[in-house]
Amino acid sequence: MSRTVAVIGGGYGGSAVAKALDAEADVVLIDPRDAFVNAAGALRALAQPDWAPNMFFPLDTLLTRGTVVRDRAVSVDPGGVTLASGRRVEASYLVLASGSSYAYPAKPKADSAEEALDDLRRTHKELAGADRVLILGAGPVGLELAGEIKEVWPHKRVTIVDPAERLLPAFQPEMLQDLHRQLDELDIRLRLGTGLAAPPATEPGRAATFTVTTTGGEQITADIWFRAHGVHVNSDYLADERLTTRTPLGRVPVTETLNVRGYDHVYAVGDITDVPEDKRAGYAMQHAEVVARNITAQLRGEQPTAVYRPSPDPMILLPLGPGRGVGQLPTPDGPAVVPAATVSEYKGADLFTGRFTELFGTA
Ligand SMILES: Cc1cc2nc3c(=O)[nH]c(=O)nc-3n(C[C@H](O)[C@H](O)[C@H](O)COP(=O)(O)OP(=O)(O)OC[C@H]3O[C@@H](n4cnc5c(N)ncnc54)[C@H](O)[C@@H]3O)c2cc1C
Repeated sequence: MSRTVAVIGGGYGGSAVAKALDAEADVVLIDPRDAFVNAAGALRALAQPDWAPNMFFPLDTLLTRGTVVRDRAVSVDPGGVTLASGRRVEASYLVLASGSSYAYPAKPKADSAEEALDDLRRTHKELAGADRVLILGAGPVGLELAGEIKEVWPHKRVTIVDPAERLLPAFQPEMLQDLHRQLDELDIRLRLGTGLAAPPATEPGRAATFTVTTTGGEQITADIWFRAHGVHVNSDYLADERLTTRTPLGRVPVTETLNVRGYDHVYAVGDITDVPEDKRAGYAMQHAEVVARNITAQLRGEQPTAVYRPSPDPMILLPLGPGRGVGQLPTPDGPAVVPAATVSEYKGADLFTGRFTELFGTA
């Protein structure tokens, strides 16, 4: 049996698995991007384009022994991966780590870091000239985007519209109170429990004045808008069912050892899995540790015994710019609400740049 491990996707989960197995196995990391994208930095990258290069880490510096193939998986079966170029990668172990796509700017559209940076600079220019900003979606992405905009342009009028009645209902009331207080302080206007009667007539991210009417009858005039809702699971390459049948949301059914159900040599990590938890980079990296331990055991002829059990309590670090924000972390005694200073220290200040600088050896 070869020692080839094909990892499909070099995001948070895939990069961590590939790196952890690099010394033990012949890793082939497949991704159409030329760089790892630290999506946590995307919204600051839009508001502060000089900072934007910090969110990209060249994939070719990640591995010492393994290879990185810049291509897209179009089909996966138990024996390997077929790529968009027509190339075939045969492998003894497969790790599905192709994650999810969010509406730009939360994750870049372009596969090359240079093009993604051009897009961010272009949209920044449009945003800089727009006084009134409308954000559709009051989840973590919409709220973080509002915070990053206010950090750079405190006087812009930022309105967030969401049909949900309440912000982040899974989190502790104390955290939510603090969130509302900080949003008020920043003069970020919330319109909850209401949608738009019709979408804006202009493209998202383009400066042009428009007026929309909410389902509650309020008229909102803005000069630019962003979509901050909707996630697409990147699993189209499994549609042919040569490997597995996806859930209705496009996710991959996995066991507690993170094996794709039915296979002891195929694994999945991150947003693509059907693990019952919020989809988070932090969890994708924990999945990666479990999968790397299991494949290492198998390569050594041992039983794979590492299991992943989702935390019963949700966690979040939600910066509103570098110094503000709210958070909730799990502890042995249950969920703990943390102050803005902790959110800033763990995430807001550098948006995890330091951690990935270490992983990619780009210090
Ligand atoms: C603005 C923002 C802020 C966030 N902040 C946080 C945070 O603070 N903490 C947190 O835990 N989570 C955060 N998240 C969520 C986090 O980004 C996702 O949970 C995370 O990206 C999932 O990681 P992943 O490894 O599953 O996949 P991804 O990071 O989505 O990576 C998937 C990779 O697979 C590649 N790929 C896709 N299709 C194919 C294919 N067919 N063939 C080969 N490769 C393919 C993609 O190019 C990509 O590189 C944030 C998300 C956003 C948008």
